[in-house]
Amino acid sequence: MTLLTIDNLVVEHRTPGRPLVRAVAGASLTVAAGEVVGLVGESGCGKSTLARAVCGLHPAAAGTITVGGHPVTPLGLRSRHRALTGAQMVFQDPYASLNPRRRVGAQIADGLRTADDRTTAPEDLLERVGLPRDFAERFPHEFSGGQRQRIAIARALAARPSLLIGDEPISALDASAQAHVARLMRDLAVESGAGLLFISHDLSVVRLIADRIAVMYLGKIVETGPTAEVWADPKHPYTRALLGAIPIPDGRGVLPAELPGDVPDPADPPSGCRFHPRCPLVMDVCLDREPEFGPVACWLHEPA
Ligand code: SF4
Ligand code: MG
Repeated sequence: MTLLTIDNLVVEHRTPGRPLVRAVAGASLTVAAGEVVGLVGESGCGKSTLARAVCGLHPAAAGTITVGGHPVTPLGLRSRHRALTGAQMVFQDPYASLNPRRRVGAQIADGLRTADDRTTAPEDLLERVGLPRDFAERFPHEFSGGQRQRIAIARALAARPSLLIGDEPISALDASAQAHVARLMRDLAVESGAGLLFISHDLSVVRLIADRIAVMYLGKIVETGPTAEVWADPKHPYTRALLGAIPIPDGRGVLPAELPGDVPDPADPPSGCRFHPRCPLVMDVCLDREPEFGPVACWLHEPA
Protein backbone atom coordinates (compact mmCIF):
# COMPACT_ATOMS: atom_id res chain seq x y z
CA MET A 1 0.00 0.00 0.00
CA THR A 2 1.29 3.42 -0.93
CA LEU A 3 1.22 5.86 2.00
CA LEU A 4 2.72 8.91 0.40
CA THR A 5 2.29 9.93 -3.20
CA ILE A 6 3.90 13.10 -4.48
CA ASP A 7 3.10 13.85 -8.07
CA ASN A 8 4.77 16.64 -10.00
CA LEU A 9 5.03 18.83 -6.91
CA VAL A 10 6.04 22.46 -7.30
CA VAL A 11 6.74 24.59 -4.23
CA GLU A 12 7.76 28.21 -4.55
CA HIS A 13 9.40 30.64 -2.15
CA ARG A 14 8.38 34.26 -2.55
CA THR A 15 10.49 36.86 -0.81
CA PRO A 16 9.57 40.52 -1.40
CA GLY A 17 12.07 42.23 -3.70
CA ARG A 18 13.73 38.97 -4.69
CA PRO A 19 13.17 36.64 -7.63
CA LEU A 20 10.75 33.75 -7.21
CA VAL A 21 12.50 30.52 -6.24
CA ARG A 22 11.08 27.16 -7.26
CA ALA A 23 12.56 25.16 -4.39
CA VAL A 24 10.70 22.05 -5.56
CA ALA A 25 10.35 22.08 -9.32
CA GLY A 26 8.16 19.14 -10.37
CA ALA A 27 9.15 16.32 -8.03
CA SER A 28 7.44 12.91 -7.88
CA LEU A 29 7.97 10.32 -5.17
CA THR A 30 6.16 7.51 -3.34
CA VAL A 31 6.61 5.82 0.04
CA ALA A 32 4.85 2.52 0.78
CA ALA A 33 3.67 1.18 4.13
CA GLY A 34 6.61 -0.16 6.09
CA GLU A 35 9.05 1.27 3.57
CA VAL A 36 12.04 3.47 4.34
CA VAL A 37 12.97 5.92 1.61
CA GLY A 38 16.16 7.92 1.96
CA LEU A 39 15.99 11.35 0.30
CA VAL A 40 19.48 12.62 -0.38
CA GLY A 41 21.08 15.60 -2.05
CA GLU A 42 23.23 18.62 -1.29
CA SER A 43 21.92 21.31 1.04
CA GLY A 44 19.64 23.77 -0.74
CA CYS A 45 18.30 21.19 -3.20
CA GLY A 46 14.75 21.41 -1.83
CA LYS A 47 14.61 18.36 0.48
CA SER A 48 13.33 20.25 3.53
CA THR A 49 10.84 22.26 1.49
CA LEU A 50 9.45 19.03 0.06
CA ALA A 51 9.11 17.60 3.58
CA ARG A 52 7.36 20.73 4.84
CA ALA A 53 4.91 20.59 1.95
CA VAL A 54 4.12 16.94 2.79
CA CYS A 55 3.30 18.02 6.36
CA GLY A 56 1.04 20.79 5.07
CA LEU A 57 3.42 23.44 6.39
CA HIS A 58 4.11 24.90 2.96
CA PRO A 59 1.57 25.31 0.18
CA ALA A 60 2.10 23.58 -3.15
CA ALA A 61 2.05 25.85 -6.20
CA ALA A 62 1.23 22.87 -8.43
CA GLY A 63 1.05 19.11 -8.31
CA THR A 64 -0.50 16.84 -5.68
CA ILE A 65 0.45 15.21 -2.39
CA THR A 66 -1.57 12.49 -0.68
CA VAL A 67 -0.74 11.09 2.74
CA GLY A 68 -2.64 7.97 3.85
CA GLY A 69 -5.16 8.56 1.06
CA HIS A 70 -5.90 12.17 2.02
CA PRO A 71 -4.91 15.02 -0.25
CA VAL A 72 -2.60 17.55 1.37
CA THR A 73 -3.31 20.16 -1.32
CA PRO A 74 -4.97 22.61 -1.47
CA LEU A 75 -3.87 23.75 1.93
CA GLY A 76 -7.14 24.48 3.71
CA LEU A 77 -7.11 24.39 7.50
CA ARG A 78 -8.89 21.06 7.47
CA SER A 79 -6.57 19.30 5.11
CA ARG A 80 -3.73 20.85 7.00
CA HIS A 81 -4.96 19.25 10.19
CA ARG A 82 -5.36 15.91 8.45
CA ALA A 83 -1.92 16.23 6.97
CA LEU A 84 -0.43 17.02 10.34
CA THR A 85 -1.99 13.94 11.83
CA GLY A 86 -1.07 11.80 8.81
CA ALA A 87 2.59 12.80 8.62
CA GLN A 88 4.78 13.65 11.59
CA MET A 89 8.15 15.28 11.24
CA VAL A 90 11.26 14.92 13.37
CA PHE A 91 13.37 18.00 12.81
CA GLN A 92 17.10 18.48 12.61
CA ASP A 93 17.55 20.41 15.82
CA PRO A 94 16.24 18.59 18.91
CA TYR A 95 17.15 21.66 20.97
CA ALA A 96 14.76 23.88 19.04
CA SER A 97 11.92 21.42 18.39
CA LEU A 98 11.14 20.64 22.05
CA ASN A 99 9.65 23.27 24.33
CA PRO A 100 12.25 23.95 27.06
CA ARG A 101 9.63 24.99 29.61
CA ARG A 102 7.40 21.92 29.47
CA ARG A 103 7.99 18.50 30.93
CA VAL A 104 8.82 15.78 28.42
CA GLY A 105 5.74 13.74 29.35
CA ALA A 106 3.41 16.66 28.66
CA GLN A 107 4.93 17.17 25.23
CA ILE A 108 4.47 13.52 24.33
CA ALA A 109 0.90 13.74 25.64
CA ASP A 110 0.22 16.42 22.99
CA GLY A 111 0.93 13.80 20.33
CA LEU A 112 -1.37 11.29 22.05
CA ARG A 113 -4.16 13.88 22.03
CA THR A 114 -3.67 14.46 18.31
CA ALA A 115 -4.38 10.76 17.77
CA ASP A 116 -7.20 10.76 20.35
CA ASP A 117 -5.32 7.99 22.14
CA ARG A 118 -6.50 7.69 25.75
CA THR A 119 -4.96 4.35 26.58
CA THR A 120 -1.27 4.90 25.87
CA ALA A 121 0.82 6.74 28.48
CA PRO A 122 3.70 9.05 27.57
CA GLU A 123 5.91 6.69 29.59
CA ASP A 124 5.03 3.83 27.21
CA LEU A 125 6.39 5.84 24.32
CA LEU A 126 9.55 6.69 26.23
CA GLU A 127 10.07 2.97 26.68
CA ARG A 128 9.56 2.35 22.97
CA VAL A 129 12.34 4.78 22.11
CA GLY A 130 14.64 3.18 24.67
CA LEU A 131 14.42 5.76 27.45
CA PRO A 132 13.52 5.30 31.14
CA ARG A 133 9.89 5.95 32.08
CA ASP A 134 10.78 8.54 34.70
CA PHE A 135 12.16 10.88 32.03
CA ALA A 136 8.54 12.00 31.57
CA GLU A 137 8.82 14.18 34.68
CA ARG A 138 11.94 15.96 33.50
CA PHE A 139 12.68 18.89 31.19
CA PRO A 140 14.43 18.79 27.79
CA HIS A 141 17.56 20.62 28.99
CA GLU A 142 18.42 17.68 31.23
CA PHE A 143 19.17 15.48 28.23
CA SER A 144 21.81 14.96 25.57
CA GLY A 145 21.12 15.68 21.90
CA GLY A 146 20.59 11.99 21.15
CA GLN A 147 18.16 11.61 24.07
CA ARG A 148 16.25 14.70 23.00
CA GLN A 149 15.93 13.34 19.50
CA ARG A 150 14.52 10.11 20.96
CA ILE A 151 12.00 12.23 22.86
CA ALA A 152 11.07 14.05 19.63
CA ILE A 153 10.59 10.66 17.96
CA ALA A 154 8.37 9.52 20.86
CA ARG A 155 6.26 12.66 20.47
CA ALA A 156 5.95 12.10 16.71
CA LEU A 157 4.99 8.44 17.17
CA ALA A 158 2.41 9.35 19.81
CA ALA A 159 0.33 10.97 17.07
CA ARG A 160 0.19 7.61 15.25
CA PRO A 161 1.38 8.99 11.95
CA SER A 162 0.89 6.99 8.79
CA LEU A 163 4.14 8.56 7.65
CA LEU A 164 7.16 9.58 9.68
CA ILE A 165 9.52 12.15 8.20
CA GLY A 166 12.99 12.85 9.50
CA ASP A 167 14.47 16.09 8.16
CA GLU A 168 18.19 15.64 8.79
CA PRO A 169 17.27 14.16 12.20
CA ILE A 170 20.79 12.98 12.96
CA SER A 171 22.99 15.72 11.55
CA ALA A 172 23.11 17.69 14.83
CA LEU A 173 24.03 14.60 16.88
CA ASP A 174 27.33 13.13 17.98
CA ALA A 175 28.70 10.50 15.62
CA SER A 176 28.05 7.85 18.27
CA ALA A 177 24.33 8.71 18.48
CA GLN A 178 23.74 9.06 14.73
CA ALA A 179 23.45 5.44 13.66
CA HIS A 180 21.44 4.55 16.80
CA VAL A 181 18.85 7.23 16.21
CA ALA A 182 18.63 6.46 12.49
CA ARG A 183 18.10 2.74 13.18
CA LEU A 184 15.57 3.51 15.88
CA MET A 185 13.51 5.63 13.48
CA ARG A 186 13.60 2.87 10.90
CA ASP A 187 12.64 0.12 13.35
CA LEU A 188 9.77 2.10 14.87
CA ALA A 189 8.39 3.20 11.52
CA VAL A 190 8.49 -0.33 10.10
CA GLU A 191 7.12 -1.93 13.28
CA SER A 192 4.16 0.45 13.41
CA GLY A 193 3.39 -0.09 9.72
CA ALA A 194 4.13 3.55 8.89
CA GLY A 195 6.50 4.63 6.17
CA LEU A 196 9.63 6.65 6.79
CA LEU A 197 10.98 9.41 4.60
CA PHE A 198 14.48 9.93 5.90
CA ILE A 199 16.20 13.07 4.67
CA SER A 200 19.94 13.22 5.01
CA HIS A 201 23.04 14.37 3.28
CA ASP A 202 24.86 11.46 4.90
CA LEU A 203 24.70 8.68 2.34
CA SER A 204 26.47 6.16 4.53
CA VAL A 205 23.65 6.33 7.10
CA VAL A 206 20.97 6.24 4.41
CA ARG A 207 22.60 3.13 3.05
CA LEU A 208 22.26 1.49 6.47
CA ILE A 209 18.54 2.06 6.89
CA ALA A 210 16.80 2.81 3.58
CA ASP A 211 15.02 0.30 1.33
CA ARG A 212 15.01 2.83 -1.46
CA ILE A 213 16.99 5.95 -2.28
CA ALA A 214 15.69 9.08 -3.99
CA VAL A 215 18.31 11.56 -5.13
CA MET A 216 17.28 15.19 -5.36
CA TYR A 217 19.06 17.90 -7.33
CA LEU A 218 17.90 21.48 -7.59
CA GLY A 219 14.23 20.79 -6.91
CA LYS A 220 13.94 17.55 -8.90
CA ILE A 221 14.21 13.87 -8.10
CA VAL A 222 16.90 12.74 -10.52
CA GLU A 223 17.23 9.06 -9.57
CA THR A 224 15.28 6.54 -7.53
CA GLY A 225 15.92 2.86 -6.95
CA PRO A 226 16.45 0.13 -4.38
CA THR A 227 19.33 1.14 -2.11
CA ALA A 228 21.54 -1.82 -2.96
CA GLU A 229 21.09 -1.24 -6.70
CA VAL A 230 21.75 2.46 -6.57
CA TRP A 231 24.75 1.83 -4.40
CA ALA A 232 26.20 -0.88 -6.63
CA ASP A 233 25.38 0.84 -9.91
CA PRO A 234 24.51 4.53 -9.62
CA LYS A 235 23.26 5.72 -13.00
CA HIS A 236 22.69 9.46 -12.92
CA PRO A 237 25.99 11.34 -13.17
CA TYR A 238 24.95 13.37 -10.13
CA THR A 239 24.35 10.21 -8.07
CA ARG A 240 27.73 8.93 -9.15
CA ALA A 241 29.35 12.14 -8.06
CA LEU A 242 27.52 12.04 -4.71
CA LEU A 243 28.58 8.47 -4.04
CA GLY A 244 32.12 9.26 -5.03
CA ALA A 245 32.06 12.07 -2.50
CA ILE A 246 31.57 9.91 0.57
CA PRO A 247 34.62 8.70 2.38
CA ILE A 248 33.66 5.16 3.36
CA PRO A 249 35.96 2.36 4.40
CA ASP A 250 34.76 -0.35 2.00
CA GLY A 251 36.98 0.65 -0.88
CA ARG A 252 34.66 2.91 -2.87
CA GLY A 253 35.12 6.63 -2.69
CA VAL A 254 37.82 6.51 -0.09
CA LEU A 255 39.06 9.79 -1.47
CA PRO A 256 36.39 12.44 -1.18
CA ALA A 257 35.81 13.62 -4.75
CA GLU A 258 34.40 17.13 -4.81
CA LEU A 259 31.65 17.82 -7.30
CA PRO A 260 32.83 20.38 -9.82
CA GLY A 261 31.17 23.77 -9.44
CA ASP A 262 28.54 25.00 -7.00
CA VAL A 263 24.84 24.26 -6.79
CA PRO A 264 23.34 26.77 -9.27
CA ASP A 265 20.96 29.50 -8.08
CA PRO A 266 17.51 27.90 -7.82
CA ALA A 267 16.00 31.29 -8.75
CA ASP A 268 17.74 30.98 -12.10
CA PRO A 269 18.16 27.27 -12.86
CA PRO A 270 20.16 26.16 -15.89
CA SER A 271 18.26 25.38 -19.10
CA GLY A 272 17.71 21.78 -20.17
CA CYS A 273 19.12 19.31 -17.66
CA ARG A 274 19.67 21.25 -14.45
CA PHE A 275 22.86 19.35 -13.79
CA HIS A 276 24.44 20.14 -17.16
CA PRO A 277 26.89 22.87 -16.03
CA ARG A 278 28.48 20.38 -13.62
CA CYS A 279 28.08 17.18 -15.61
CA PRO A 280 31.20 15.51 -17.01
CA LEU A 281 29.05 13.65 -19.59
CA VAL A 282 27.03 16.60 -20.91
CA MET A 283 25.75 16.29 -24.52
CA ASP A 284 24.09 18.79 -26.87
CA VAL A 285 20.59 17.57 -26.05
CA CYS A 286 21.19 18.29 -22.36
CA LEU A 287 21.57 22.02 -22.93
CA ASP A 288 18.00 22.73 -23.93
CA ARG A 289 15.82 19.68 -23.25
CA GLU A 290 14.96 18.72 -19.69
CA PRO A 291 14.92 14.95 -19.06
CA GLU A 292 11.47 14.66 -17.50
CA PHE A 293 11.23 10.94 -16.91
CA GLY A 294 12.26 8.36 -14.32
CA PRO A 295 13.66 6.40 -12.67
CA VAL A 296 16.84 8.11 -13.89
CA ALA A 297 16.22 11.63 -15.22
CA CYS A 298 19.18 11.75 -17.59
CA TRP A 299 19.30 11.60 -21.38
CA LEU A 300 21.80 8.76 -21.11
CA HIS A 301 19.08 6.67 -19.43
CA GLU A 302 15.95 7.52 -21.39
CA PRO A 303 13.47 4.62 -21.08
CA ALA A 304 12.96 2.76 -24.36
FE1 SF4 B 1 24.57 14.94 -17.70
FE2 SF4 B 1 23.00 15.22 -19.82
FE3 SF4 B 1 22.48 13.32 -18.07
FE4 SF4 B 1 22.09 15.86 -17.45
S1 SF4 B 1 21.00 14.69 -19.00
S2 SF4 B 1 23.04 14.35 -16.17
S3 SF4 B 1 23.78 16.85 -18.48
S4 SF4 B 1 24.28 13.49 -19.37
MG1 MG C 1 17.33 21.16 4.83
